Amino acid sequence: MTGHADEHERTMAFCEIALGQIKALRQPATPRNYEIWYAYATGYQPSLNQKINETLQQSGGLSDDDLDSIYETYLSPSRLTERIDMVGTQVMGEIEQVMAMIDAAAGSANSYTESLADMSAKLGNSKDREGLRTIVESLVQTAKEMEVSNQKLEERLNASKQEIDELQVNLEAVRTESLTDPLTQLANRKYFDTTIEQAIEEARAANEPLSLLMTDIDHFKNFNDSFGHLTGDQVLRLVAMSVKQNVKGQDTASRYGGEEFAVILPNTVLRSAITVADHIRRAVMTKELMKRSTGEHLGRVTISVGVATWRKNDTVQSLIERTDACLYAAKRHGRNRVMCETDPEVTPTSAQVA
Ligand code: GH3
Ligand code: MG
Ligand code: MG
Repeated sequence: MTGHADEHERTMAFCEIALGQIKALRQPATPRNYEIWYAYATGYQPSLNQKINETLQQSGGLSDDDLDSIYETYLSPSRLTERIDMVGTQVMGEIEQVMAMIDAAAGSANSYTESLADMSAKLGNSKDREGLRTIVESLVQTAKEMEVSNQKLEERLNASKQEIDELQVNLEAVRTESLTDPLTQLANRKYFDTTIEQAIEEARAANEPLSLLMTDIDHFKNFNDSFGHLTGDQVLRLVAMSVKQNVKGQDTASRYGGEEFAVILPNTVLRSAITVADHIRRAVMTKELMKRSTGEHLGRVTISVGVATWRKNDTVQSLIERTDACLYAAKRHGRNRVMCETDPEVTPTSAQVA
């Protein structure tokens, strides 16, 4: 539902902040510097803002090296893929080292078997005590060497296991980041798309119910116009939190688009989904908003919610379209309300696009 003109205004607000910073610090107005300050203006990456604020506080400015390092750390488009590649390379390296150790161990086990065979042959031929003593001594020596080499292999394998466990944790963190919306920390659209696909598969296979709800903030454009987009973003975080706090572990709460959130509710019938939707709606409308920096009271915001439940012939698209039709009906009938596909106000044509 976001129009071009809205997007223009929203992004111009960030653009002006970015240019203002470049001017104030008399930095070269290169695309890279603009991107850094634009990201700063959106506040989507709190760690980037924190780094910039700290550096400014310590040295009163940002050198070219500071900017390089900030760009590389937080913005370089290849950052995520590079991190994934790096973990991959490290895993391969570990595996190669372990393979080499195992090869070496197999080699020493072979030569151990050979020297045992050799000694047992000598044992058969040995006639005197002195000869026997020498053979037993070298047997003990060979056994000791074998023990040391086994111990080394075990230590190396343990170290390797630890290393691979750490790499796995790293990889998981990168994966989570790539599926998380940076502003609200909810699942992003990409995650929503794959999860709804799976949820439908599972509902079909287990013959279980599945519901979907979608929310949209009421008159959010007015809010942004009155208080600015940065404050609008804080409200988005607050709405996201209200969504998150009213759903259970099995549900997927995600940022579907600009100011729209979607929740996938597996194993949930329409009636229960409506209850969840109403809890979210109430949670949002009861929050008295206040601008933290100035203490200014900003009133309240409300949301409209559409709820639909999966039917046997539904595709991802038809289910989303039906939910969206309910959301649209909620808007038309006065906003700050939940509407579902069985409500008479939802026109059959709009609710049965399937
Ligand atoms: P309605 O009640 O009909 O939903 O009115 P609305 O003004 O909310 O209209 P619409 O749903 O089309 O809202 C789009 C507006 O949401 C445009 C823009 O101002 C705001 N918006 C979208 N994404 C963001 C965002 O990431 N941050 C901020 N601050 N505002 C956003
Ligand atoms: Mg909208
Ligand atoms: Mg809206």
